[in-house]
Amino acid sequence: MSSLKYLSAYSEQTQQQVSQLLAQNRLGEVLLKRYSKAHELRTDKALYQYVQDLKNEHLRNAEPINKVEYDSKIHVINHALGLHTSISRVQGGKLKAKHEIRVATLFKEVPIEFLRMIAVHELAHIKEKQHDKAFYKLCTYMEPNYHQYEFDLRLYLTELDASGKRLWSQAA
Ligand SMILES: [Zn+2]
Repeated sequence: MSSLKYLSAYSEQTQQQVSQLLAQNRLGEVLLKRYSKAHELRTDKALYQYVQDLKNEHLRNAEPINKVEYDSKIHVINHALGLHTSISRVQGGKLKAKHEIRVATLFKEVPIEFLRMIAVHELAHIKEKQHDKAFYKLCTYMEPNYHQYEFDLRLYLTELDASGKRLWSQAA
């Protein structure tokens, strides 16, 4: 069980089912059946536009985001799927927060649903700092399937750890 570090928050039963799929080498197949292709947001510019559109749709009145980019220095461990930083500084006599969102480069090659889950998570942090009830309420408001996408993303990270093979690699 100890090998399922990305799924430690899920039930013992769920972890057992996943362990079984892993042992049978079927986890990748299950994921590929559910998600057939990777998204096409290959550049920082495309990523920025995507996150900005998502924000305009659901969090129009929240503070603006100054930067969104892929970051190869982010290593995906446990909860650190993306990174949201806000730096507060005084500007024109007012305290203004500067929000930046960084997404691990690994997520250039995943289905759009996984990227969406990360974008929603990091956007929600503009308003809610902690991972509490209000935070997850905001996440599921922005994306009703948030928890399903997070679970499937964690399945993929588990599979990736075991096989070392990217399922949706664009380098054919
Ligand atoms: Zn978070």
